[in-house]
Amino acid sequence: MPAILTFVLALVALAVLVLATPGVRRALITGRVFRIYRKVLPTMSDTEREALEAGTVWWEGELFRGKPDWSKLHAYPAPKLTPEEQSFLDNECNEACRLVDDWKVSHEDYDMTQEAWQYIKDKGFLGMIIPKRYGGLEFSAFAHSQVVTRLSTRSSALAVSVMVPNSLGPAELLLHYGTEEQKNHYLPRLAKGLEIPAFALTSPWAGSDAASIPDVGIVCKGMWQGKEVVGMRVTWDKRYITLGPVCTILGLAFHLYDPDGLLGDKKHIGITCALVPWDTPGVETRRRLFPLNAMFMNGPTRGRDVFMPLDFIIGGPAMAGHGWRMLMECLAAGRSISLPSSNTGMAQVTARTVGAYARVRSQFKMAIGRFEGVEEALGRIGGNTWLNDAVRRMTAGAIDLGEKPSVVSAIAKYHVTERARQIVNDGMDVIGGKGICLGPSNFLGRAYQQVPIGITVEGANILTRSLILFGQGAIRCHPFVLHEMQAAKNPDVARGLVDFDRAISAHVAFVVRNGVRAFVAGLSGARTLAAPAGAAPETRRYYQQLSRFSAAFAFLADVSMLTLGGALKRREKLSARLGDILAMLYLASAALKRYEDEGRPASDAAFMHWAVQDSLFRAQQAFDGVLANFPGRALPNLLRRVLFPFGAACAAPADRLGRDIAKAMIEPSATRDRLTALVHLPQNEHEPVGTLEAALIATIDAEPIDAKIRTAMKNGALHDNPQANVRDLAEAAFAAGLVTPAEHALLRRRDALRDVVVHVDDFDMAFGHARQTSPAPAPLQRAAA
Ligand SMILES: Cc1cc2nc3c(=O)[nH]c(=O)nc-3n(C[C@H](O)[C@H](O)[C@H](O)COP(=O)(O)OP(=O)(O)OC[C@H]3O[C@@H](n4cnc5c(N)ncnc54)[C@H](O)[C@@H]3O)c2cc1C
Repeated sequence: MPAILTFVLALVALAVLVLATPGVRRALITGRVFRIYRKVLPTMSDTEREALEAGTVWWEGELFRGKPDWSKLHAYPAPKLTPEEQSFLDNECNEACRLVDDWKVSHEDYDMTQEAWQYIKDKGFLGMIIPKRYGGLEFSAFAHSQVVTRLSTRSSALAVSVMVPNSLGPAELLLHYGTEEQKNHYLPRLAKGLEIPAFALTSPWAGSDAASIPDVGIVCKGMWQGKEVVGMRVTWDKRYITLGPVCTILGLAFHLYDPDGLLGDKKHIGITCALVPWDTPGVETRRRLFPLNAMFMNGPTRGRDVFMPLDFIIGGPAMAGHGWRMLMECLAAGRSISLPSSNTGMAQVTARTVGAYARVRSQFKMAIGRFEGVEEALGRIGGNTWLNDAVRRMTAGAIDLGEKPSVVSAIAKYHVTERARQIVNDGMDVIGGKGICLGPSNFLGRAYQQVPIGITVEGANILTRSLILFGQGAIRCHPFVLHEMQAAKNPDVARGLVDFDRAISAHVAFVVRNGVRAFVAGLSGARTLAAPAGAAPETRRYYQQLSRFSAAFAFLADVSMLTLGGALKRREKLSARLGDILAMLYLASAALKRYEDEGRPASDAAFMHWAVQDSLFRAQQAFDGVLANFPGRALPNLLRRVLFPFGAACAAPADRLGRDIAKAMIEPSATRDRLTALVHLPQNEHEPVGTLEAALIATIDAEPIDAKIRTAMKNGALHDNPQANVRDLAEAAFAAGLVTPAEHALLRRRDALRDVVVHVDDFDMAFGHARQTSPAPAPLQRAAA
């Protein structure tokens, strides 16, 4: 053996020996890295740490590790309703929907009727998350999600009034942290709607950065019910508080201070959550805001030096200062359900109504849904609606498995609301002026107005994408980063070094493995990666491609963290794109899961293909975006060659898929019913959705008769009849004996229904005058006061 080779082999053997011996490795390598890491690791406030560490890691953890175990995904049970929950959805939900006329609510009464309010209170809608032993419905997360989805297809006022008490707020906080006395008093009353809850965190000065609320409580002595007690003097100014104007108990978050040491030696105790009855002297709640024509109750609340006992703190004095942790720990459950469900409802009703309208409305002698341009928009509406529902189901299912998936809940909230915005925009484009002129017969305009609300609440979307999806994901889902950070922060430095050494060694091996895996998969077009046993033949390639992207993502995430370090937090555009990749992998997983759970229905295959291909394509675009904007030149070029040796791996869904989806949306079928399963369908033809359903059937029934008339026209049989214009063709054809009386009746019914469907409401010139008799308070005067 040549001496040089012997020397190289000896060097390699030495390196392996060093790396394999922890003591030596720590002394020579990881100990130095540890010391640097401790210095550069940005300091984290308690609130940041609590937010980052809250919740659990679920399927997204598999996607982050670069080698998803698909058998785990398939093993998650398909969400199901109990007979009791199904009956509630079919009966109570439909009755609640029937009691609400969204036009009257939005433009005449500015609130739901007393009857509707009483119904949702009496039937327990406000206590779906409350256990039966307290008188609540104790529904599963999936059932809760089904209910909110259905209500959202009818009215935002109805859906939000039900959604908020079941989301992050007094009931959820009491269930987890309340004292027995608080639970026994409030939960039965909340379950039956005897108390209406609201939760007030946001202030004019602190929206997204909610931990910096300026609202304060000072621990002090004061008089309460005739006795001197230790309590708090609380001052707050909050806005945007849903149900605030009608609440009877106000959940309130504020910073608690104890300047006189009445509770201990800590001066700033921290964010504290209290439950304050609305009629406590000094509490102001009964004013309203007007969020984009949505009539759910929303308003500001203020209080100045309002004295309240320490018992008002959720969990009692022991929980003073733990408010932020409580909020962060409970955030995932509500965020997984509320917005994903309400926005899926909005999507489903858009898909159902716009699909029907596109068949009923003709231009250029053809149903508009048959023009390729409209078909393209319909394809997106259908594909996105199907995908949104898949994400909603899978995410609610995670809550039922006992997870509190903080990153997944942010993915679901962000992407379902963004896709709902796209769905509603597409829907508005398809229905043209019909969507624009508001009135009782407009079935989409208010959704269009209100779609930004979901984008803004429960973590505004830009922030969620830029900071949370990858920022929190990288730390929570990565198998080693959190351990490394915790080790570096360990006050026992020696113990910290041992933990750090173990984590970083495994981390290095992990990066190398993912890099090699991604490269080999790139060379083989992912064919080297296994699809799960028993996967449907039509989905096998998707599993392989997703596994490839997962490895590529894990590798790219590590390289990004390594090269950019703490700066990645400021490079929000890169971080957002990395978050997009993770999110798209999650969305595609949800699509595959739904397809499997529902027994791979052949007629839904186009929706599944569209959803997975769209997600993969967007993931590909996000990879491109990261690599194109990565600092430097050599490294991104190298990364591109490693991850995509033959260029882009995925294309956008083909036009053919969009066409198949659009076709399924413009005629009644089991596929259309599954796509829009939760839409409340009024059983009469005098409401917009009911009219559309009837018009769609009549249109399809009349199409063969139309064809017969068109042939007759071509043959000149109707040529000279002055009635033979587009509007009165039925009469002309009947007069000419070209259609039977039954066919004539059908044409007349179709025409009558179509007239109603295309009609837009007009109003007399006094429209709105009545409202002008009580002018709104001038904002500037109020501000000055
Ligand atoms: C209808 C409605 C109902 C609501 N209900 C409640 C309620 O019941 N209780 C309650 O406490 N609050 C409620 N909110 C408040 C809601 O949670 C806040 O509106 C939300 O947190 C955003 O705060 P902001 O509107 O002040 O926006 P800002 O915080 O001013 O944000 C403005 C924009 O900046 C972006 N942004 C901020 N920071 C960053 C960053 N670091 N990186 C990137 N982008 C960033 C945001 O994404 C957003 O796009 C409600 C709001 C509305 C409109």
